[in-house]
Amino acid sequence: MRATVMFEAGDVRIEDVPDARLVEPTDALIRVTRACICGSDLWPYNQLEHSETGVRMGHEAVGVVEAVGADVRTMKAGDLVVMPFAYSDGTCVFCHDGLHTSCIHGGFFGTGDVGGAQAEAVRVPQADGTLFVLPVGEDDALMPSLLTLSDVMGTGHHAAVAAKVSPGKSVAVVGDGAVGLCAVIAAKRLGAEQIIILGRHADRIALAREFGATDVVSERGEEAVERVRELTGGFGAHSVLECVGHGQAVATAIGVARPGGAVGRVGVPQDETMPASLPAFFGNVTVGGGPAPVRAYVEELLPDVLEGRIEPGRVLDRAVGLDEVPDGYRAMNDRESIKVMVRP
Ligand SMILES: [Zn+2]
Repeated sequence: MRATVMFEAGDVRIEDVPDARLVEPTDALIRVTRACICGSDLWPYNQLEHSETGVRMGHEAVGVVEAVGADVRTMKAGDLVVMPFAYSDGTCVFCHDGLHTSCIHGGFFGTGDVGGAQAEAVRVPQADGTLFVLPVGEDDALMPSLLTLSDVMGTGHHAAVAAKVSPGKSVAVVGDGAVGLCAVIAAKRLGAEQIIILGRHADRIALAREFGATDVVSERGEEAVERVRELTGGFGAHSVLECVGHGQAVATAIGVARPGGAVGRVGVPQDETMPASLPAFFGNVTVGGGPAPVRAYVEELLPDVLEGRIEPGRVLDRAVGLDEVPDGYRAMNDRESIKVMVRP
């Protein structure tokens, strides 16, 4: 089968690889009907050191179940499923707590011997706990929005949950990528009164406003912090959703949180240490978040997608076939595209 393999920074290829197949009795094999390129794929796209074997890419997918192992109970061949970016058994102590990304039998797609989703097919471990059967056909008009339940919409929602967004609160969203835009949707959905997006790309800002952002801050660093304070009566935002991951963004996120506020981090950290320790301490700012347990959120978010109350699929502003995936990486890296959908 054909799959996306990254060999080093900037070198993404579509390669012939061994067919994905069932290995464990708890596995499912899915034919990928839609996948995505993720903002987090751009970190290796800029930094990966040369690898002879390459790294299999992609962790977001919707697909059709081709086959299931002997122990799989909740789906059958032919079902359309959404695949969260992490697999999980759905039964361990952490899955019961709604933290599927810490599942003791879990892991992430595109790592170890589990393939990536920017491919014709993918093996899904712990299929019963991981996959969610969708009540629509594979070419449903809502497909882009359903696809975001595999990562970016659930991740934006997780930022909002970790930052304790609730009705009437002021919210700042750091980052105008696909996750930041979904974080705006999530904040609005949870009742935030004021939603300030920190970003500087005109097309993304326009979409953020349509999603519910009330204010835009395009400054950076200290200037951004001051601007958010001005917009929030001098104190900062109750809830800050950090959707980038590099040190400057985290420092800004903590800087714009009001005393007693909370920062929800979902941008993958690019540094070992967390900046702004002193402001976080003296402001009694709660800093939380991590890899989103998107599987935990599918049931909650799906009705809003199916009934058209939220349209996170609008962040997918370009669609490509498998052969065009390398150009899709380039387009996202050059900020020509917010997020690329792949139709293998
Ligand atoms: Zn588990």
